[in-house]
Amino acid sequence: MEFDYFIVGQGLCGTLLARQLINAGKRILVIDDGNPDASSRVAGGLVNPVTGKRMVRSWMIDQLLPAAIEEYTAIGNEIGEQVVTVTDIIDCYTSSDDKLLFYERASADNEFLSAYDLSGTFSNYFHLPFGTGQINPALHVKIDTILNYWRDRLHASGLLANTSFNLQECHVAPESVTWNGAKASGIIFCDGQAGNSNPYFQMLPWSKDKGEVLIASIPTLPGNHIYRHGHISLVPWNDGLFWVGASHDWKYETTAPTDRFRTNTISVLEKWLKVPFEIIDHRSSVRPANFDRKPFVGFHPQAHNVGIFNGMGGKGFSMAPYFARQFSAHITTGEPILADVSIERYKKILSR
Ligand SMILES: Cc1cc2nc3c(=O)[nH]c(=O)nc-3n(C[C@H](O)[C@H](O)[C@H](O)COP(=O)(O)OP(=O)(O)OC[C@H]3O[C@@H](n4cnc5c(N)ncnc54)[C@H](O)[C@@H]3O)c2cc1C
Repeated sequence: MEFDYFIVGQGLCGTLLARQLINAGKRILVIDDGNPDASSRVAGGLVNPVTGKRMVRSWMIDQLLPAAIEEYTAIGNEIGEQVVTVTDIIDCYTSSDDKLLFYERASADNEFLSAYDLSGTFSNYFHLPFGTGQINPALHVKIDTILNYWRDRLHASGLLANTSFNLQECHVAPESVTWNGAKASGIIFCDGQAGNSNPYFQMLPWSKDKGEVLIASIPTLPGNHIYRHGHISLVPWNDGLFWVGASHDWKYETTAPTDRFRTNTISVLEKWLKVPFEIIDHRSSVRPANFDRKPFVGFHPQAHNVGIFNGMGGKGFSMAPYFARQFSAHITTGEPILADVSIERYKKILSR
């Protein structure tokens, strides 16, 4: 079988890039080992237009947000099921400093923030000693639905190899790549955190960021908002459950879920929630992050048919739709890749 590209990895990045390239008429074979603990499978699927404790507008949000809404809506239309919800985040302040910062940011021309206090609406559900603010709009993406649909679709078309890819079993020549009896013109790695041990790309400034989450049943809490309390968000999940997360840990000893996270998070929930909850599950994964917090997009400066689409960190759901389109347009029509994300910026270290 002859393909234009092998794509290694069918998480968020591999799926969106494969979809773009297939729609552009390219022949693609996706190779994925179906890891249930891949970052995309554990993520909250949240797009928050403001970032960090200081609540600054997220990088490029004016371009990324509309592209994300458009892309996820189009995917939902293909599936015949809504996979993106435009919603808001009810920010339950954790202190008077927290509230003050929100007020400052809201008055500093940040159209995503409203300091109007909604305590009256939510005080049956939460203890709100410092009140609330609102972040609007935010997105929630049903990533499992997208990944499962595309996995089935690729499989049904004979375009999925459900196996682990090993570079030693692959032959990369300047004009072609052969693997497992199949041939392609090139190969693109969308392999998430595994990317940092890929010999082509291990020199990139990876920064692996472990995240843990709980899945909770909170039957009386309305599921039409996302709720936030410090670093913990409650995101409406499948079957009336809530996703509760997430931690950021750059110095972890184990990639497995820890008792520490579980105990601390339950303690936060007990103080914050007025309504009963029950923990159903506890999961963890590692975000494929980058020290400069921008993705890795493009082809290797020396192996021109070996590409990468990775490094989305904690912002994959906003960044991947826009840059999957841009990378696909680069491949099909030669459109340039934004310098901030192109791996050309690491040409020197990749050429060593
Ligand atoms: C706890 C947590 C919460 C998060 N919450 C959010 C959020 O709310 N919003 C947000 O924007 N981002 C969030 N993220 C980050 C988000 O998950 C990532 O940015 C994004 O999903 C990364 O997608 P990816 O396709 O690059 O990687 P992955 O999802 O890791 O996909 C890589 C795929 O490649 C496969 N693979 C790897 N190596 C091989 C191999 N050798 N052979 C075959 N297959 C292979 C894996 O099995 C996997 O399917 C969160 C992450 C975590 C861990």
